[in-house]
Amino acid sequence: MNVLKRIDDSLDLPEEERLILDAVSALCRDRLQPNAAAYDLSGEFPWDNVHAINNLGLNGMFIPDEYGGTKTSYVSYLATIREMAKACAATAMVWGTTFHAVKPVIDFASKEQKQRLLPNIAKGGLVSLCITEPTAGSDATGMKTKFTPDGDDIIITGGKTFITQGDQADLFVLFGKWSEIENDKAAISVVLLEKGTPGLSVVGKEDKMGQRACSTVSLAFDNIRVPRANLMCEPGDGLKILFSALNKSRPSIAAHALGIARVAFEDAVAYINQRQQSGRNIIEFQGIQFMLADMATDLALCESWLWRVGRMIDAGEDDIGIEASMLKMRASDLAMHITTEAVQLHGGYGYCRDYPVERYMRDAKITQIYEGTNQIHRQLIGRSFIEK
Ligand SMILES: Cc1cc2nc3c(=O)[nH]c(=O)nc-3n(C[C@H](O)[C@H](O)[C@H](O)COP(=O)(O)OP(=O)(O)OC[C@H]3O[C@@H](n4cnc5c(N)ncnc54)[C@H](O)[C@@H]3O)c2cc1C
Repeated sequence: MNVLKRIDDSLDLPEEERLILDAVSALCRDRLQPNAAAYDLSGEFPWDNVHAINNLGLNGMFIPDEYGGTKTSYVSYLATIREMAKACAATAMVWGTTFHAVKPVIDFASKEQKQRLLPNIAKGGLVSLCITEPTAGSDATGMKTKFTPDGDDIIITGGKTFITQGDQADLFVLFGKWSEIENDKAAISVVLLEKGTPGLSVVGKEDKMGQRACSTVSLAFDNIRVPRANLMCEPGDGLKILFSALNKSRPSIAAHALGIARVAFEDAVAYINQRQQSGRNIIEFQGIQFMLADMATDLALCESWLWRVGRMIDAGEDDIGIEASMLKMRASDLAMHITTEAVQLHGGYGYCRDYPVERYMRDAKITQIYEGTNQIHRQLIGRSFIEK
């Protein structure tokens, strides 16, 4: 057994979580992986895959039992998204985005809000997390979407850009600024917006390099009126909710990136074990072995850190922001590096669509950009060492 398999086996999930992961592996083998190239080409939203995921009840993994889920550990969630990303990165991101967006609802919404909204998500509903705006990317606090109180209602004006599955979602976890609070950061608040609310429209869809079947859209909010009952926590609680949400979504992005990295590594290893040049299998050349050694070692270290951060979250540790930043940054850089090397190891064939490695390379790139670019993560990590 190779070293990476041994790390996988050391995960030691409880029996019921192992059975879920086995079912996900079968789904990935039979449906997600065979359809991945076609979805990449068409860029169509992968509804067949979403229905198959919902038939397994996988949204239940992150919804508490009292709201219709069958909640499992965070480590098992990470293992599941990594497994899906190996097969179809776009589908994995659809499922992962619902987790990223619904987690703050689980952690911060009122009981009434959870009873009203979560059962539908447990059954398979999609959720979008809406933070980014055209002039507020890395500095999300520059957002301009406005929440204006009006009696028992809130009026929403503004717009968002780059919203994953914003054209398909049933629920939008929307960040904006409370009109009555002057301080820019203190004004950030969160409103829950349901599909079909008058004034909500999709005004553009991106044509992307990778993860093409997972839609990315711009949204406009034209004087949307929602009941104040849809405000999460109090006006001005948004920044706290945002940081907490990112601490849970960044390890998820890392697991996703490591799934892409792992499949690219395994495909390359399989290829160079059979491809011959100069009368030898390519893997027998020492220069190639050195490349594998570096990639396998980095993968082993990064995967081990993934499970460590996952266990910290399962143990209820809150102060994990820097660990999560390190993980997201290193995993996504590694995914880009390994997918690029996997193309290289396939020679000219790696550059062509007959082999999936060129798709892995395109799918990997965004993991360095979203959920905080890797420049921002380097800044957060480095800054944490400034002595106060
Ligand atoms: C496919 C896709 C899906 C996405 N999904 C979502 C989603 O579901 N919800 C959502 O809210 N957003 C989403 N995003 C937005 C994403 O999080 C942002 O694109 C990202 O945070 C970067 O913002 P920006 O694109 O405006 O880049 P900018 O912030 O303009 O950055 C441009 C460059 O400048 C660098 N830079 C910026 N500030 C600094 C600094 N202080 N120091 C050093 N370098 C800096 C950046 O690292 C980057 O290289 C998505 C984006 C994409 C492309």
